[in-house]
Amino acid sequence: MRDVIVIGAGPAGNIAASELASRGWDVAVIDWRENLGEKLCTGIVGMECHERFPVRPEHIYRHARSATVYSPSGKEYPVLAEKPTALIVDRAAYIRSMADTAMACGAEYILGSRVSRFQSDNSGITVEATSGDTVSKHHARLAVITSGFGTPLLRMAGLRDGKKNDHMVGNQTEVRAEGLADTEVYTGDHVAPESFGWLVPLDGSRALVGIMSRHRLNGHLQHFQEFLTAKGKISEPNPNAKSWGIPLKPVSKTYADRVLVAGDAAGFAKPTTGGGIYYALISGQMAGRTAAGALENDQLTASELKSYESDWKQVIGKELRVGYYARMLFESMDDAQLERLMGLFLSEGVLRELILSPEFSFDWHSGTIMKTVRHGDLGPLIRSFGPLVAPFLGRLLRQSVTR
Ligand SMILES: Cc1cc2nc3c(=O)[nH]c(=O)nc-3n(C[C@H](O)[C@H](O)[C@H](O)COP(=O)(O)OP(=O)(O)OC[C@H]3O[C@@H](n4cnc5c(N)ncnc54)[C@H](O)[C@@H]3O)c2cc1C
Repeated sequence: MRDVIVIGAGPAGNIAASELASRGWDVAVIDWRENLGEKLCTGIVGMECHERFPVRPEHIYRHARSATVYSPSGKEYPVLAEKPTALIVDRAAYIRSMADTAMACGAEYILGSRVSRFQSDNSGITVEATSGDTVSKHHARLAVITSGFGTPLLRMAGLRDGKKNDHMVGNQTEVRAEGLADTEVYTGDHVAPESFGWLVPLDGSRALVGIMSRHRLNGHLQHFQEFLTAKGKISEPNPNAKSWGIPLKPVSKTYADRVLVAGDAAGFAKPTTGGGIYYALISGQMAGRTAAGALENDQLTASELKSYESDWKQVIGKELRVGYYARMLFESMDDAQLERLMGLFLSEGVLRELILSPEFSFDWHSGTIMKTVRHGDLGPLIRSFGPLVAPFLGRLLRQSVTR
């Protein structure tokens, strides 16, 4: 019997595996992918994430310190920070480098195998993994579930996820875009109802174009690409888009006897932008450390593992809650209201106070959100948007967030 099985080798699983293997525990990481890291993602991480979980220089496409934001009517707002706030990275290579680190610490990777059954009892965890026609059984004292958005393994582990419908869908494809210098963000119902679309330069003339919305909107992505082609931003639409979910709320419980859940599987993405790599790393690291302590004491019951949930709540709990209300506030606005809000929010003075201020963080949005709704001009403007918007503004104003 192994000490730990980690299911899913994304950022959350790889970091959890490193934490455990580096302390000498016998860890197996199972993933159905042969090519790790190729999960649908844009690959933007904030500088704080890079400082804590460094991206190797050869995996960095660009340092990003500017972006252009377009209002629903097409008004252009350039945003230029003094120094880079984020990196655009080769996401697959970044994730593989984390798996390499975990392997170097002694974790064994079992790739091309999908965990299809999960069972937990007093004697330990048993998982069945399917690879082609072969089914293999693996036993461990504890499991860390890091198998990403909407994983059915939570149910098998006795962790029902009542909130699984509250999510966004990201649609994305790769295109050619000559001379694109900055990330561009587009808003308005014609682009992505309730959310936004993006055009992100990678290396050379490659770029990623995508939209995020409450529903799978392939037609919208095609229209968005046609619009970008007509503007001369991209050379032509690519019809081969992929879509995948992004959680908006944490699941109701992230631990059980012999089980911890981290990353997207636990519902830990930023509800504002959908960015989840950093929170996957933070929670995966916490899960790994909690698991290591529990194995050391041979105390693997839910009550011993509970501290993991208090730990992540302490660090990202407010961010997830405030970010969720901000998303609901954003979604409740119509295009005309959004146009007015952006006009003020992205005006030079307010931009300097909020986004370009030293307190702004790419990874922690609650402080800026609270400053926005309490702002002397922005607050009254949002309040004037009426009864559909008011409940979310009210919920935000009741939060006590200092960060
Ligand atoms: C279109 C789009 C763009 C995004 N862009 C960004 C961005 O720019 N920046 C950012 O920070 N975040 C972004 N995200 C979110 C980010 O990709 C996720 O939050 C992050 O990857 C979560 O990491 P994770 O380790 O929890 O899960 P994942 O990265 O999803 O990893 C889960 C792993 O589990 C494996 N797996 C699943 N089920 C099983 C099974 N049954 N058996 C074995 N293996 C299994 C999968 O193959 C996968 O490798 C984006 C998401 C989308 C959809």
